[in-house]
Amino acid sequence: MITIALSKGRIFEETLPLLNAAGITALEDPESSRKLILPTNRADVRLIIVRASDVPTYVQYGAADIGVAGKDVLNEHGGIGLYQPLDLNIARCRMMVAVREDFDYDSAVRQGARLRVATKYVQTARDHFAAKGVHVDLIKLYGSMELAPLVGLSDAIVDLVSSGNTLKANNLKAVEHIADISSRLVVNQAALKLKHGDIQPMLDAFAKAIVK
Ligand code: ATP
Ligand code: MG
Repeated sequence: MITIALSKGRIFEETLPLLNAAGITALEDPESSRKLILPTNRADVRLIIVRASDVPTYVQYGAADIGVAGKDVLNEHGGIGLYQPLDLNIARCRMMVAVREDFDYDSAVRQGARLRVATKYVQTARDHFAAKGVHVDLIKLYGSMELAPLVGLSDAIVDLVSSGNTLKANNLKAVEHIADISSRLVVNQAALKLKHGDIQPMLDAFAKAIVK
């Protein structure tokens, strides 16, 4: 049995064509089904539906053989025990620093002020500001980061941006680009060895189907 871990929403939708290219079709839609284990057209392949940030953990421990996870999530997780053979080039966005439109970020940084930064991506934020030599107090949030600067919880946020519409709608501006983000295929290293005959052809089919 090959178990593939996916999260609902854009990753599931954008991974489906790649699965199809490998001859794998989901028999149920996770958006309408309450099942967490979804059968496929192949008796030896199943999909499990987990939180986006939990995908690396399932694959790391071998509960899933393969998964699809955003680079944002992989950076936070650290990638221990994971083989990352393919950039699938899906769910593309950017990791950015954003502040209120009326906040003078450059002079705050220049003056060496201690910056309060709210984010779900604590590790990414810590690494980014440490590399710049900017002192920060990090505040861990689990969602809706855009709210934090508006109500005085923080000076800045570190968050994913694609169109920038959410920032604009909340009177925020992006001031720094940290990284380009896309989703990666992750494979359990032991599974790759033990189930090489099953997994390698899937990897080859995914690689061929990636839209550059
Ligand atoms: P949850 O909603 O369960 O807390 P999440 O918000 O991280 O998890 P999604 O919003 O579905 O889940 O994001 C899943 C992945 O999609 C992220 O890890 C990231 O790699 C990517 N992603 C997030 N936001 C965007 C975006 N605006 N545009 C493109 N890709 C994105
Ligand atoms: Mg979400």
